[in-house]
Amino acid sequence: MTRSITVLGATGSIGHSTLDLVRRNRDQWRVEVLTANGNVDKLAALAREFCAALVVCGDEGCLPALREALAGSGIEAAGGPQALVEAAARPVDMTVAAIVGCAGLAPVMAAAERGGAIALANKEALVAAGDVLMAAVSRGGATLLPTDSEHNAIFQCLAGNSLDHVRSITLTASGGPLRTWSAQQLASATPAQAIAHPNWDMGAKISVDSATMFNKGLELIEAWHLFPVGLDKLKIVVHPQSVIHSMVEYRDGSTLAQLGPSDMRVPIASCLAWPERMETPCAPLDLPALGQLTFEAPDEVRFPATRLCREAAEAGGAMPAVLNAANEAAVAAFLAGHLPFTRIAVVVEETMARYAPPAPHALNDVLAIDHEARVQAIGLLETA
Ligand code: NAD
Ligand code: MG
Repeated sequence: MTRSITVLGATGSIGHSTLDLVRRNRDQWRVEVLTANGNVDKLAALAREFCAALVVCGDEGCLPALREALAGSGIEAAGGPQALVEAAARPVDMTVAAIVGCAGLAPVMAAAERGGAIALANKEALVAAGDVLMAAVSRGGATLLPTDSEHNAIFQCLAGNSLDHVRSITLTASGGPLRTWSAQQLASATPAQAIAHPNWDMGAKISVDSATMFNKGLELIEAWHLFPVGLDKLKIVVHPQSVIHSMVEYRDGSTLAQLGPSDMRVPIASCLAWPERMETPCAPLDLPALGQLTFEAPDEVRFPATRLCREAAEAGGAMPAVLNAANEAAVAAFLAGHLPFTRIAVVVEETMARYAPPAPHALNDVLAIDHEARVQAIGLLETA
């Protein structure tokens, strides 16, 4: 049976892994929509290869070039944020939400309101919108399939069990490429050093988040919404080998863990095939070759991000959206060479201290908070 699929963020790292799996099973999928921000050549090439019905570039200025690249193909093209939302609202069996940042929120909301299955990689959308997004998912009767490797691991470890029996959930963190650096070394970490992740090949923003540990903090907030067991039952452990992707401990003392290669095609395949299973080309785990799996407590002095994310979750309301927006602005400034690595967390903490808007009730509230928190964070870049 053929199923229809939309990939939001098709030209990125998750988009690439998703389309690799679709390519290997071409007879099973009909590609409805592919989107990107501005990478027109790649988007047009993917659209032609997969015979997409519609392609959308988030950057409206790229639309003429996209149309030109698709000339004669019969593939429909559109551009701009509103076109992304309309594209995401088209009925499909599976939406892969893989835009990076809060820029992906409005399209994910549209997909959620429309229903169907959503493989959610875009963690910033859930962190920023929280209850607003979860409410849209339940209104639309959508099925949210966690694609982030940790959340996919937890989802698998929870299968068939009630949350009532959960004693704790432990998110594993690789610790990133700067895990062993001193505070002094961290202060002069460059973008190239921060994005050189030891285990995973990912987009630039999430790679920086892995180095600061904001990625794990954002994932803590993500887990808090996806698996509502309460913040006090959510833990983080550093596990540099990234073999165990997360664990669930039950009240009887059993802990279930999900293991696998550090390749996002594994959790993506779990979402695409759910509730069945499908083949992936990933090499099986070779435990004797790995030898040892090790674990450490996170160091929140050198890496304050997980503390800040926990505080944002405890404050609730708008605070996770403020934290996320400030982090996005600070990471962009770091990648542009305008902010030292260790100042990312300082900018986030200071933005949270200065801007405490009321809790959002709808998408537009979240987008307004996101916008204002960015303005505040950018204002702090010079001084924080
Ligand atoms: P990426 O930077 O490689 O790709 C991002 C995609 O989003 C691209 O297609 C880009 O064109 C599009 N995009 C960026 N800004 C946009 C905008 N303003 N409007 C419309 N489209 C825009 O990022 P990635 O590593 O694939 O990550 C995507 C999401 O998945 C992130 O939220 C990330 O946290 C999450 N995630 C990624 C991984 C991974 O291994 N890469 C793992 C877990 C979760
Ligand atoms: Mg993850």
